[in-house]
Amino acid sequence: MSETGTRSKAPTPKPWIAAIHAYVPGKSAGKDGRPLIKLSANENPLGTSEAALAAKAKAPALYPDPDSKDLRARLGDLHGIDPARIVMGTGSDELLNLAAQGYAGLGDEVIYVRYGFSVYDIAARRCGAAPVVAPDADYGTDVDALLALVTDKTRVVFVANPNNPTGSFLPKGEIVRLHAALPTDVLLVIDQAYGEYVAPEDEDGAMALAAAHDNVLVTRTFSKIFGLAGERIGWGTGAPGIIDTLNRIRGPFNISSTGQAMAAAALDDMTFVERSRVHNRDERARFVEKIVALSNHGLRPLPSQANFVLVLFEGKLTAEAAFDGLAERGYIVRWLPNQGLPHGLRITIGHPHDMDAIAEGIREMAEAAQ
Ligand SMILES: *Cc1c(COP(=O)(O)O)cnc(C)c1O
Repeated sequence: MSETGTRSKAPTPKPWIAAIHAYVPGKSAGKDGRPLIKLSANENPLGTSEAALAAKAKAPALYPDPDSKDLRARLGDLHGIDPARIVMGTGSDELLNLAAQGYAGLGDEVIYVRYGFSVYDIAARRCGAAPVVAPDADYGTDVDALLALVTDKTRVVFVANPNNPTGSFLPKGEIVRLHAALPTDVLLVIDQAYGEYVAPEDEDGAMALAAAHDNVLVTRTFSKIFGLAGERIGWGTGAPGIIDTLNRIRGPFNISSTGQAMAAAALDDMTFVERSRVHNRDERARFVEKIVALSNHGLRPLPSQANFVLVLFEGKLTAEAAFDGLAERGYIVRWLPNQGLPHGLRITIGHPHDMDAIAEGIREMAEAAQ
């Protein structure tokens, strides 16, 4: 009812919902609709495991197992986690949203870092909580800046490690320090969507925190290194209380039968994962080296532990012009003006010949812009 007592003409969304800017996915076609080679969504250029593809045909068409029991058991085996401490999500996106919804609401605050993953803003706002954005440290996550914003209203802190879109990574010492300084009633969500790309010796210790404390949720996904983004399968691990909370509010049949079968088969083929990690590590290093060689043109690749590199354009060639020029050459990457990065292109690591063509295209454009 409005002030005059008449009803409004149409249903009115809640103001905190109306304030949300919808998620913008990576595109796969140019302005003219021409399909381009897609390096805009951090997908695995090697595809997915043959074993996962073979499992696809075998999944029954009836309702799926609501608890994904077999898949959780396999995840538990692989990571040394009691399956009772694992919750499945329709992509890790569902779990990020449920974490905010389960623990924050109107009047509460949710903290994440500037240039953090764009879903955190949506997750905070859709349950009515206020997003609080911590300043970055040269595009990386600044633990002290996050901690400085903690108040009595703080309920959830989101950290992606490695972070998207910057690729930055917090080492174990920093993650442990962040957790130790947070009040125990604040939920720390460590989003490891790119966790498998990190060299095993650099592992950030988040899983151990989730195993030992009541206020840590670690999320993972089958969308990135496993190459199953189309199936929408994510998972999280934490204390039983957290898992119970998320299970109450998740979709009852949130992982399809096909998704459960493919993910379980993918876990039996860790050689594919290792091959993907090594490919990414080597190609990323080769690509970064070529961009570093263009630093005299104001080009700066940020250090990345993920399957993409954020290249900053701080010279005459703008990121927008480079985005258009790469599209003319057949490639779509991610330009991020909506995330405060009009001077950045996030480029997914693809096949060697594609990375060569992109680096060469950027070199030509940078030299022509002088
Ligand atoms: C891609 C991504 C996700 C989620 O992907 P899902 O497909 O929903 O599992 C989560 N966090 C970050 C930082 C990502 O980049």
